[in-house]
Amino acid sequence: MQTCYWKLQSNEQDAEVMAQAAKLIQAGEVVAFPTETVYGLGANGLNSEAVTKIFAAKGRPNDNPLILHIADVKDVEPLTTGLNENAKALMEAFWPGPLTLVINKSEIVPDAVSAGLPTVAVRYPANKFAQQLIKACGCPVAAPSANISGRPSPTNAQDVWEDMQGKVAAVLDGGNCGIGLESTVVDTTEPVPVILRPGGITYEMLTEVLGAVEIDPALQGDSSYKPKAPGMKYRHYAPKSAMYLLEGEAAGLLPKMAVNALEEGKRVGVLCSRATAEALGANENVLAKEGEGSENLLVSPWGDSLEELAANLFYLLRDFDRTMPDVILAEGVSESGIGLAVMNRMRKAAGYQIVSLEDGELSVKIGSLPKFMVK
Ligand code: AMP
Ligand code: MG
Repeated sequence: MQTCYWKLQSNEQDAEVMAQAAKLIQAGEVVAFPTETVYGLGANGLNSEAVTKIFAAKGRPNDNPLILHIADVKDVEPLTTGLNENAKALMEAFWPGPLTLVINKSEIVPDAVSAGLPTVAVRYPANKFAQQLIKACGCPVAAPSANISGRPSPTNAQDVWEDMQGKVAAVLDGGNCGIGLESTVVDTTEPVPVILRPGGITYEMLTEVLGAVEIDPALQGDSSYKPKAPGMKYRHYAPKSAMYLLEGEAAGLLPKMAVNALEEGKRVGVLCSRATAEALGANENVLAKEGEGSENLLVSPWGDSLEELAANLFYLLRDFDRTMPDVILAEGVSESGIGLAVMNRMRKAAGYQIVSLEDGELSVKIGSLPKFMVK
């Protein structure tokens, strides 16, 4: 399939592009488009055949339901069997925005969208290009992240192109996504709403509106709990190289571990804050003096704030698939605010190879500690 690439300009030319993109979606085709979270792969959410094409393009397991995107609060009504007070309060506080609500579904929602569940996930995105496209389509737009299943989600149009060229009808380029992580998913059908996936609307923001909110225990990586969002059970966001996430005090050992791994002759990728990158710079000089090559050290600093980390995380993870280090060491961060969502994605990206330091003892949650860590 020939994939069209259309750059959005934020001027009157966009109306023509949106009309063409909407025509494709109305005809049952798939179009990638920007949102404030990550890029989405959109199809007519009321057309099972069109929705099936999304699963095919991504290689997504069909037991993983899709989110329906709308561009007007009132468009949630026909998709659901009624909204409770919690759902209404969340819509009022956070729509349009990076919040997805799981609500009991109406009959018009195809099983292909809900993966046979009695509920449907709905979001009203804040990105103006997403809103223009959904309005032009005149139907709810089913849209998962625009990556091949299992890869980190795309946060710019080039990353979408890399995964979807030849597989979808068109890609709309609307620049970089602001938030950089997928939406928060909240199940509103429980008496106390439950966070099924953390995202840009944080636990703290939700409790302020609702009073009480629970977090799906499966998000802590405890395999005895089955995640309520089917998608959360899959290995996800993973770069091709082995990745270790250094949590809590273990994060302080990152520069030393990186040096040890370099001395073993490994090419080492490091995902860390600007401050840690500077500390590593010092180590790099020491190695250079000793005649060790520093070209084997691939440092990807994400910035200073948790928001910058969220915005850059997927891009940096995908970048490691281009540079292919032997091992990636990632610095864990605080779980406050958007940190909860960031740590959820980093733990999955690391395949739960989470390293911690307690009472002077290093341990890893899955597998065994590599030699360069224990030295
Ligand atoms: P993505 O489309 O890649 O952003 O992923 C959507 C996420 O929402 C996945 O983790 C899905 O499993 C989850 N999801 C979608 N619909 C539902 C639903 N009806 N109930 C629970 N989780 C859902
Ligand atoms: Mg996804």
